Amino acid sequence: MQPNKVPVGVLGATGIVGQRFLQMLERHPWFEVAWLAASERSEGRAYAEAVRWRLKTPIPSRAAALPVSSANPDGAPKIIFAALDASIAAELEPRFAAAGHAVISNSSALRMQRDVPLVIPEVNAEHLKVLECQSWRRQSGGFVVTNPNCSAIGLVLALAPLEQHFGLEKVMAVTMQAVSGAGYPGVASLDILGNVIPYIAKEEEKMEEETRKLLGQVRDGHIELAGFAMSAQCNRVAVEDGHTESVSVKLKKKAGGEEIIEAWQQFRAVPQELRLPSAPERPVEYLPSSDRPQPRFDVDRGAGMTACVGRLRPCGVLEWKFTVISHNTIRGAAGAALLNAELLKAQGYLD
Ligand code: NAP
Repeated sequence: MQPNKVPVGVLGATGIVGQRFLQMLERHPWFEVAWLAASERSEGRAYAEAVRWRLKTPIPSRAAALPVSSANPDGAPKIIFAALDASIAAELEPRFAAAGHAVISNSSALRMQRDVPLVIPEVNAEHLKVLECQSWRRQSGGFVVTNPNCSAIGLVLALAPLEQHFGLEKVMAVTMQAVSGAGYPGVASLDILGNVIPYIAKEEEKMEEETRKLLGQVRDGHIELAGFAMSAQCNRVAVEDGHTESVSVKLKKKAGGEEIIEAWQQFRAVPQELRLPSAPERPVEYLPSSDRPQPRFDVDRGAGMTACVGRLRPCGVLEWKFTVISHNTIRGAAGAALLNAELLKAQGYLD
């Protein structure tokens, strides 16, 4: 361990999101991976043997040699990044929090729980105040903070500047989601090649409720959901990384196209002010070309942490429509959790 770095653990380290965590943490200036855990299938093996590494950079050498530990809190570092299936997270995340760990989670299991903050640091950093009422925190010092579903993140980054400047009345979003969003091995090739699947289990419900929690307000120790109407339709498409969304909005206050683009381009928030290590210079970038953004060319902007918006034009049903894309395993998962951890550290929650 480097003495100036904080040890962290990764739960679900062998999965698609777990691998992104290890990749993003390899040269992190504040955190160092000291512990890894996955299922019983992987337990006891060296990480390099247990994992089916699916990323384009090599396995980080330090992590490769670490043993995969059993997924329980004994001996685990205080800070845990969690990338578990929701059903397993529902059992393990509370157990780690009750044992005094700070659990920074990707899973949907606890996202909508009243006392669990669901955070995108550029959008609702102030929702961390809810932690004061979290029972685990009062009892053991441990807590759970979550980041949203991978399609809600890109959408909400694009919506937040519009909500701030003009207010939102109605939102409709249709997604085209990458196969890496389904974990590994994910959707069978015979199901997805040359095809579009118009159903992703529970995804539409998650997008609709999480969007309104993220843009809601803290009242009396919990989050009051934002009041706009929201409808989502989710599709799986044969793209490797990057969720694309076609969005229509009705705003409360009339706005011109130039004003909307200006709101996106000027959008900066707490992570940029604090210069958090994983914060992109521009959380939202408007691309003026008529055929962008596209996942193949734009998904890696801002090291995968920038949501790219384009094709703003009038909508004949609502008022304006546009396209947004974001990287589902970076901004939509591991990068989101890492930025949450950096915000928590900068605000003293990890001391
Ligand atoms: P994944 O590739 O299927 O990985 C699942 C991980 O959980 C593996 O490390 C697996 O270990 C581990 N695991 C399974 N059963 C376990 C158990 N009983 N105890 C401990 N560990 C267990 O899934 P993923 O795509 O990385 O997603 C992980 C979570 O992040 C999910 O909740 C998902 O919804 C969420 N998420 C994913 C994305 C995305 O774009 N992929 C985006 C946002 C959020 P073994 O290898 O040992 O089986």
